[in-house]
Amino acid sequence: MQVFGPVPSRRLGRSLGINHIPPKVCSYACRYCQLGSTLNMSIDRRNFFEPSSIIAEVGRKLEELRESGDPVDYMAFVPDGEPTLDLRIGELARGLKGYGVPLAVITNSSLIGDREVREDLMAFDWVSLKVDGATEPVWRFVDRPHKGLSFDGIMEGLRAFSSDYRGHLETETMLLAGANDQDDHLEALAAFLSALSPDVCRLSSPTRPPACPDVACVDEERLAVATAILESQGLNPMILNAYEGDDFTRTGDAREGLLSIMSVHPMKEAAVARFLREEGDDMAIVEEMVASGDVTRTSWRGDVFYARNLRKANREGGR
Ligand code: SF4
Repeated sequence: MQVFGPVPSRRLGRSLGINHIPPKVCSYACRYCQLGSTLNMSIDRRNFFEPSSIIAEVGRKLEELRESGDPVDYMAFVPDGEPTLDLRIGELARGLKGYGVPLAVITNSSLIGDREVREDLMAFDWVSLKVDGATEPVWRFVDRPHKGLSFDGIMEGLRAFSSDYRGHLETETMLLAGANDQDDHLEALAAFLSALSPDVCRLSSPTRPPACPDVACVDEERLAVATAILESQGLNPMILNAYEGDDFTRTGDAREGLLSIMSVHPMKEAAVARFLREEGDDMAIVEEMVASGDVTRTSWRGDVFYARNLRKANREGGR
């Protein structure tokens, strides 16, 4: 378990990240996943960490940030896996609400057919639901779901949740060239999303190295077409395609700080350099982390990215 940041977020301003799932337990193995291969494919909800210890850790962190005058816009559940796999996420969310900071969660929606999952998500002020495929073949191709999941059950669950939820609702669709960016699929997607009446529909294309090297990003022109198709259904699409920036908060422990952020948020080289400068350190630390295998270095689309080696973290017992 980790509480990290605040990190800059394209949607949430400066968000305090809560990582409450061991690496990388997920119900999907999305082709574009920035965290690499799914190490533990599961649809079984279970206990991972004691909610009271996470609530106490968040409280300590918020207090430190208040004392240093560092603003926090959201507490955000952004684990390196699927957050609703945590059986006690609702209890955790209700406990955290006492801190008076809005609470956000980004879910892949895979378990939303389960009434208890929908009830747990109701505790959040801001919910983002992933909808990459409006048809079963596209969903299967892009998200590579666990074989126990039902496409129709998820679609039904999305409709049921959106009709009851009163907080800020967003959807998120990652567009991959040749996979889900064709006009007919975008039209089916727009028709489905309009039934959910979300406040915002985020559209994006990968900005970090994907799990499958053959993933092709969509260009600006396709994003513009997708935007127009969603607007034609009365939706409010927004393109979520810029790198978040490099404004990562100092932690006082450069190595641990980098590992926490890189677990869920691969960083560009310039962001790592800036973070280390602010900690009074230099790139020698990250070179040592690459040499020890704790961190991986990847070149992608002209940039160098550093990410935590989740396979090694998993072998060593998680966080
Ligand atoms: S992108 Fe999210 S939902 Fe997809 S495999 Fe990665 S962690 Fe799981």
